[in-house]
Parts: sequence; C-alpha cells; structure tokens
Amino acid sequence: MTTIDLPLLPLGKGRDLDSERGVECPGDLPAASDPDLVARALAAKEALGERLFVLGHHYQRDEVIQFADVTGDSFKLAREAAARPAAEFIVFCGVHFMAESADILTADTQKVVLPDLAAGCSMADMARLGQVEDAWDALAEAGIQDAVVPITYMNSSADIKAFCGRNGGAVCTSSNAEVALEWAFAQKPEVEGGAKVFFFPDQHLGRNTAVLQMGYSLEDCVVWNPHLPNGGLTVQQLRDAKMILWRGHCSVHGRFRPEVIDELRAAHPGLNVIVHPECTHEVVTKADLVGSTEFIIKTIEAAAPGTTWAIGTELNLVKRLADAHPDKNIVFLDRNVCYCSTMNRIDLPHLVWALENLVAGNVVNQISVDPATEEWAQVALQRMLDLPGRTAKD
Ligand code: SF4
Repeated sequence: MTTIDLPLLPLGKGRDLDSERGVECPGDLPAASDPDLVARALAAKEALGERLFVLGHHYQRDEVIQFADVTGDSFKLAREAAARPAAEFIVFCGVHFMAESADILTADTQKVVLPDLAAGCSMADMARLGQVEDAWDALAEAGIQDAVVPITYMNSSADIKAFCGRNGGAVCTSSNAEVALEWAFAQKPEVEGGAKVFFFPDQHLGRNTAVLQMGYSLEDCVVWNPHLPNGGLTVQQLRDAKMILWRGHCSVHGRFRPEVIDELRAAHPGLNVIVHPECTHEVVTKADLVGSTEFIIKTIEAAAPGTTWAIGTELNLVKRLADAHPDKNIVFLDRNVCYCSTMNRIDLPHLVWALENLVAGNVVNQISVDPATEEWAQVALQRMLDLPGRTAKD
C-alpha cells in the first residue's frame, strides 16, 4: 500500500484513533446539548482574565465568535496575536495554518491553542512540502529555477512558508497579493525577460491577481499539477510562463458558479456582486467587486440602505452580514448551503473544553512550529510585512 502524506487522516474510521487529530479530546468534551455551555465559556474566560486572548476568524460559527476578543481574516488575526505579548494563551478559533502563523509571530513564552486539531484547510493541504520540493527540482532541471521567486498565500502550512523564506520568496494575503507579486517580479533584474513567480497553493488568487490586477494574460499563466510528471507541463511551457500556479483551490470558494450570477442579476435588477479572489476566474470576471473578507465587510458596511448584494464567500460570514444589515438585501451567491467544514469543527463544546483545561492548568491542542521551520517562515512573513503600503482593498 502506498503511504500518502496526508495531513489529516480520514476521521472516524477507527484505524488509528491516537493520530486522528481532534477526535480524541483528553478528558471530557462537553455535550453539544449542555445548556450551560455559554455560562461555562464565560466563567473560564473570566477566570483566565488577561492571560487569555481569543481570536475568531470571520468564517467561524456565531456560537464561537461571541467569545472572540477580536475577529478578522487570517492576516489581521496573526497581527493581533503578535500585538498581545501579555497574553499567555492565544486560543485561535480558526484553522491550523492560522494557528501556526500566530505561533510564529508570537513570543516563545506564549502558547497558541487550536480547540480542535482536525480544523485544517483543504487548500493548504493541497501543497505538501515534498511535492513543492520536487517541483522546485524540476524547475532547476528546466533551467529556470534561478529566475523563479516563490510566493505562498497565507493559507499554507508553515513548512511551505519556510520554503519560500529559504528560497528568496515571501507570503502574501488576499489583501496584498498584487503588491507581493509586484515585489516578486522585481526581484531578478539580472534575468533576461524578468522574474517568474511560482505561486502556492491557490491557483485562483494567483491567476486573478496577475491577470485582472496586473495586466498579464491567461497565456502567461500555467498550472503545475503535483500529481503529474513534470507538473503536466513541457519545459517550453515552463520557460514561456510568467506565473506558475500550483494546482490548489479552496473547496468552499470553488463552488460559486458564473451562471448563478447571471440568474441572480436577472432576478434582482441593480444587484451588486462581491466575491472573494479565491473564486474562479470566470466568477471573479463577472463580479462587480473583488476583495478579501475585510474588504467585503467594509464594503457592505458602507453600502447604501436598500441596495442588494450577492456575496461570494463563506456562509457564516454572509449570514452574519445579513443579520447585521437588515436595511440591505443580502443574498448568498450559491444555490446550496456552503460552509467551510473544517472551520466549523471549532464549535462551542471544543472551545469550552480548551478553555476549561487552561483554567485547570492543562495546555491542550497547543500548536507549536519547530524552530528551524519557524525561522524561515518568519523570514517569508517579514518580507510580506515589509512590502510597501497596502492595497486599497486592505
Ligand atoms: S474557506 Fe477555503 S481557504 Fe478558508 S479555511 Fe476553508 S477551505 Fe481553507
């Protein structure tokens, strides 16, 4: 049997309970039906006081968000964690790569806790370090490695960020991808024809930024498929490309379809469509506005009463925006319910379990990046933090 480097083993199969992350919670996981969960979470937060800081990603459930000291996208939350040196415990209501980034950006004395270790990210899992290193070797064999700058989206594991740090690259977010790509393309002035970018793991953010914001053509972009020999590309295709896009995507944002935009526009005259850049190129091209979750939130807040919006991002956030703005007509851009299932793993029972363990002196589900990975991942993150300015969509 082939061993596959899967970050998350299939859950609930009973093959290896010890390594089924998040399935076994030491001690008792409170029942979801416990009527005292809210009171228990409040009591634990009060007992921990200033020692605790709770971060909540926009895609988290309301039952968890109500206990967040700050909400935001992954980049904002990582910065918020770094700005709280007094907090001994950072409880991250989000997914695994976010907690890793928080661990990298906080002091060694601070402990980052992810209430359910099975809260991963399918997109981040689509780029494994071994696959990326194989691809990097193939670029060397094609004679173009010296021309390539690796850029990884924040939604990637710490070892991919470290790979970028070691190889002259940087991290980017959906807010600053354009600035990061401009920086990357300027990194190799000695290379005839200029630098190329190898972009992980979200092909859509890479393509949408290069084509729609920077004026490159679709032909300038090729997609590296890690499951095919040489990425499924010829050496000539690699040499001709400006953007080599990793074949990864978000399983949530990949669901939005361009034909639904047409249907909604026909049903709602004057409709405004706003989507996240993790959506496909066809969807983004049909939308009126494109930007990060922070941009989407600010846009809806600033929208005139009575306006109608179709929003293409995770459903927890869209529902929250609809509830917060009853004076605007807000609809979801998918025909079906579309939550991020891994984000949803952080529920109130897991949060209460993590907080009560901290009160009892047990640090559970600590996310700790090894020092060598942390050193280079921090280099890649710092290059991002040093980028000039932020975009208008920040
Ligand atoms: S919404 Fe997509 S990119 Fe974000 S955590 Fe879920 S799977 Fe990952």
